[in-house]
Parts: sequence; structure tokens; C-alpha cells
Amino acid sequence: MFPEYVNQLFYLVGEVVVLLAALILILSLIVSMLVLYSFKTGNFFAARYMLLGIVLLENVITALFWIFRADDSIVDDVGVRLRNYINSKKFLRVPFSMRFIFMPQCVRSTECPAKLTPEGIMCVNCGRCGVGEAKRYAEGLGYRFFIVPGSSFIKRIIKKYQPRAIVGVGCHMEIKEGLDLCHRYGIPARGVQLLTAGCVATTLDWEQFYETLTEIEPHCRSLPEKDGAGN
Ligand code: SF4
Repeated sequence: MFPEYVNQLFYLVGEVVVLLAALILILSLIVSMLVLYSFKTGNFFAARYMLLGIVLLENVITALFWIFRADDSIVDDVGVRLRNYINSKKFLRVPFSMRFIFMPQCVRSTECPAKLTPEGIMCVNCGRCGVGEAKRYAEGLGYRFFIVPGSSFIKRIIKKYQPRAIVGVGCHMEIKEGLDLCHRYGIPARGVQLLTAGCVATTLDWEQFYETLTEIEPHCRSLPEKDGAGN
């Protein structure tokens, strides 16, 4: 038998745990509804709080989506779009010439003839994939374009050249880590998610990629013509 005060302590701890669990569940339900709302409408309500909610409660929210048989990739998708939205103002203020693009090597054709160099994989625009045209167009705007050969490459290039803004392409996990990395360096960044992930011949929504690249503040100049998105 425990003394009475120990029993009361256990009781109190139990009550706190139940209350906390209820609070987490309610908050997760609210954030889940906001995620669905954002996914359907493209609008964000209380964006910073919502992102904080997704970061802190991601596992519970994903579980709720699973329980209600909803597609839990929506949570990842909205998470990236939220980060992009929050970074948008600062990102758009940076001129193209001070922005870098990091493209994952897996988007290349499996027959890519490009060579590995200390500045990444050097595309020769052979026409076998959309990367060559994307590089040509982005560099025409003033961007610096890198094809990333490995995970430590981005950190090294950021330290070496100190870009003022970044566009990163990758799978959900890479985008999340990349945006967090940029946040730590104080660099506004935007992520473009791959349509299909994997290690080779991944696919990308090129239209979305070019939109991300070319978005400008309303009062700014017009953009050069593009010869069509890559395939
Ligand atoms: S366009 Fe560039 S990246 Fe694509 S396969 Fe050719 S050399 Fe490789």
C-alpha cells in the first residue's frame, strides 16, 4: 500500500496525462482541418502557427489522416507549400542573379553523358532530359544552376558562394531538410517536390518548376521567353 499522498500524486499525474492527450488530439484535429482547407483552396490561415502545428504534431496528424482514410501525402504537400508561402516575400525581393537552383541528379536521363566536377554534375544539354533546357533558361535569367551529386554538396556550395535565395528540387524529405537548412542559414528558399521519387529517372512538374523560377513581384520587369518546358 502506498501512503495517501502518493496515491494523490499518481492521480494528479494521470489527470495531467489525459488532459495533455486530449489537448494534442484537439489541436491535431484543428490543424488537420486547416491542412485540408489549404489543400483544397490553396489559401493559408494563420500560416506560421499552422506550420508550427504540422512540425510538432506531424505524427498524430498523419495518423488521423490514415484513420479517416485520407491521403496522408497531403500533409507533406501542404507543409512544403506553407514553407514556400512563408518564405515568399523575402525570396521575391532577391534578384535572379543572387539566387541558386539545386537540382537532384536523379532527374537526369539514365543515359546522361554529364561528368562529375567539384561544382556538381555538368550538364551538356544533350536533350535526353528536361534538365538541360531548365539550366539554359535559368542561367539566362541570371540564376546559378547546380546538379547535386550528393547530400553534403549543398552545404559546401552555400558556404562557398553564400547565395541570397535558393530554389531546391527534391523528394519530400529532401525539401524539408533543405528548407530547414536554409532557414538556419537565414536564406529564403522555395522547394519544388518531385512527382515521383526514387534514385533514378525521377519526374518533376516542370511547369511548377518554371513558375517558381519566374515568379516576380508585380511591379518588376517582364521575363524572357522560354522555348518550352523540358520533358
Ligand atoms: S540534358 Fe543534361 S542532365 Fe539531361 S541527360 Fe543531357 S547532359 Fe544529362
